Amino acid sequence: MSAPRLNLYDLTREQLRVQLVRWELNPVHVARLWNYLYIELVASLDAMPELPPKLRARLAAETQLGVLPTALETASSDGFTHKYLLTLNDAEKIETVLMRYTGRVTACVSSQVGCAMGCVFCATGQMGYTRHLTPGEIVAQAVHVARALKRSALSFQPSAPGGHPAARLRNIVLMGMGEPLHNYDAVMTAIDILRDPNGLALGAERITLSTVGVVPGILRLAQEMRPLHLAVSLHAATQAERAALVPAAKKWPLDELMAACRTYSETTGRRIFYEWTLIEGKNDSEAHARSVGELLRGLSAQVNLIPLNPTEGYAGVPTRSEAAKRFQKILADEFDLPSTVRQRRGIDIAAGCGQLAVVEARAG
Ligand code: SF4
Repeated sequence: MSAPRLNLYDLTREQLRVQLVRWELNPVHVARLWNYLYIELVASLDAMPELPPKLRARLAAETQLGVLPTALETASSDGFTHKYLLTLNDAEKIETVLMRYTGRVTACVSSQVGCAMGCVFCATGQMGYTRHLTPGEIVAQAVHVARALKRSALSFQPSAPGGHPAARLRNIVLMGMGEPLHNYDAVMTAIDILRDPNGLALGAERITLSTVGVVPGILRLAQEMRPLHLAVSLHAATQAERAALVPAAKKWPLDELMAACRTYSETTGRRIFYEWTLIEGKNDSEAHARSVGELLRGLSAQVNLIPLNPTEGYAGVPTRSEAAKRFQKILADEFDLPSTVRQRRGIDIAAGCGQLAVVEARAG
C-alpha cells in the first residue's frame, strides 16, 4: 500500500519550510504557497500557477490539499447560522458551523469524530467516539468557513436576510463535535496554524476552547501558558449531580476539576468561562444558582447559561426564559458573578453539536 499523501493543512509554516528543504527546493517559495492556502484560500493544487514547476510537481505527486467536501449544508431561518456537514477522507462526517451575530463572525469547529465523554444530553456524546481529527482536518474546517465568507462577501446583497458584508473569519470556538483536550496535540498544532500572522491570523484572544473538564489538559494549558479563552462545561455544582450529566466527571471529579481551574486562572491570569446547560427541573432552581455561586466564589469566572438544545436521546427540556433570568439575577445580586444567557440560535437547523450528523446518518 502506498504511503498516505501529506495533507498541506497539517503543516505549520515552519514544517512546510522544512519539507521544501527536504525536497531540495528553495524554501523562499513557502511564502507564496502559504498565501495560496490561507489568503487566497484556493481549493486545489491546480490553482497555484505561480509556484515553480519543480515544486508544483512535488506537491502534485506527494501531497493533497485536504479540502473537505460538503455533504450537507443548512441555514437557519434568520440567516445568521450556517451549518456544514463535511466529509473526511475515510468518509466519516463532521460538523462545522458559521455564525454571524452583531458583526462577529465565528466558526465552531469539531476536534474529533464522535466523542468519548458521553454527556447524556449531547447528540455527539450519544454517538460514541470514532477517532481524533488531524490538525489538517481541524484547520480545513476554518478554511471552509473562511472560503464561504469570501464567497458571500463577493455576492453580498444588502437586502439578504441577516446579511451584512461578512468580513473575514475572526473567531474560532472549539465547541463542535469532540472533546478538544482529549486530542490535545492535534488541536494545538491546528491553533498554531490558524494563528499564523501571514495566514488566517486569528488572534489568540479570539480562540475559545471548550472542555468538559479534562484535568490533565487544563493543567497542561496552564503550564504551556497558552493564551486562549478557556470554557469549562460545569452543568452541576455537586459531584453526584455532575457525574449523572457528565460521565467524564467520574474520572476527573469536581474537586480536582476546580483545583485545576484555580491553577489555570492563577498561572495565566485569565478568567474562565463556565458553561451551564439549563435543564428544566434538573439544574435550574434557585438552590442550584446559589450552589454554583458558592462553587465559583473567589474565582475569576463568568457563567454562560445555555438552555438545553433538545436531542432525541435525552428526555430533558430547556429551562424557560423567566427561570433563566432568575438564575442569572441570583448570580449577579448575591455573588457578583457575571453571566450571560445564550440564545438558542440555529435550533431550527439542529445546530447543537452532533445533531446534524445524527440526522444525516439516519437519513443515509
Ligand atoms: S458536550 Fe462536548 S464533551 Fe460532552 S459528549 Fe458532547 S462533544 Fe463530547
